[in-house]
Amino acid sequence: MKKQIIMLPGDGVGKEIMEGARAVLNAVAGEHHHEFIFHEHAIGGSAIDRYGTPLPEETVKACSSADSVLLGAVGGPKWDHVEASKRPERGLLGIRKSLGLFANLRPVTGFSSLVHSSPLKTEIVDGCDILIVRELTGGLYFGKPSERREGGRTVIDTLKYTREEMERIVDKGFESAKMRRGKLTSVDKANVLESSRMWREVVDEKARDHPEVEVEHLLVDAAAMKLIINPRQFDVIVTENLFGDILSDEASVLTGSLGMLPSASIRTDGIGLYEPVHGSAPDIAGQDIANPLGMILSAAMMLRHSFGMEDEADEIERAVSDTLEGGYHTADLDIEGGRIVGTREMVEKVIENLSTKSISNAICSSYM
Ligand code: NAD
Repeated sequence: MKKQIIMLPGDGVGKEIMEGARAVLNAVAGEHHHEFIFHEHAIGGSAIDRYGTPLPEETVKACSSADSVLLGAVGGPKWDHVEASKRPERGLLGIRKSLGLFANLRPVTGFSSLVHSSPLKTEIVDGCDILIVRELTGGLYFGKPSERREGGRTVIDTLKYTREEMERIVDKGFESAKMRRGKLTSVDKANVLESSRMWREVVDEKARDHPEVEVEHLLVDAAAMKLIINPRQFDVIVTENLFGDILSDEASVLTGSLGMLPSASIRTDGIGLYEPVHGSAPDIAGQDIANPLGMILSAAMMLRHSFGMEDEADEIERAVSDTLEGGYHTADLDIEGGRIVGTREMVEKVIENLSTKSISNAICSSYM
């Protein structure tokens, strides 16, 4: 397959980790006879420096006509004092909106070699493998009016969803559960909110079309508690924007390492935006110490969700796991008896662990 991929490295460690993802994708392409064509464009603070805007028109155009988009991270102290409408984060929100990406997928997978870094006991978190499917474009974050009234003494935010907006994200939840272990937990606050009661109706309606999926409803407060008490009970969690924002951050600390977590923002057709969960880490940028694995695992998600390349995605995920099992890790991780390596060496080790060594070696030497 031939695919056009837009790379938006952004700021801070974005460039270093993006180079790592490109090297791994090239290795996979060589092995499976695909052709990935990469085009780099500006976003965030570096785009402000070059073009005076965090999201140049040219970037939006390129992303709209590509097969998929990889993003590093945006932001940093240099742009902290820029006027709110032009801040680096505006670039990120803008590109998600321009591409109509309504579903955010965040897998939380515990790698056994890292599980001791979790704030939870190993026996609770070991084997935890959750996918959070969060609605991204509706609800409280976008409802109007959202304003102060009566001289600033009263405030109003609006929680608005259409049935269609609920249906398409719930569909993603069912689809994801069918691709995994077949369990879907729908999270709402149906004992209080009308929007949640409609959400439940939609989930129950869709459940009739997917009898093979086990469905449970949980109130958001109970879900937050159960994520800590017994995270292994979850397979796919589907929820609206605000609840998803909070629960996905809660879940992200379960596995004990921010630098490891990938994410995807997708819509109904193939195109998606894939990025690590962490920020631009300006404190370690340019030092060859950033963990590239969140970015590499995001590239694996792109292969699976945008290109339907399930085997290739599995292969990258296995190579990452084998690399950690082999004791190699960046300085943000802690593996007993392991060896700390830099960003580039970590990428090389992952490539070595991909199945076809001859091709990996060739790509590895060109990356060095
Ligand atoms: P951060 O995620 O950048 O960093 C938090 C801590 O984790 C830092 O100590 C950092 O060194 C470490 N870290 C993060 N990624 C790492 C990696 N790959 N390898 C090793 N260590 C890593 O969060 P922050 O410091 O709060 O934010 C820094 C900047 O990033 C801010 O400008 C913020 O607005 C922005 N940000 C961007 C995104 C995004 O682009 N999606 C997300 C969060 C924050």
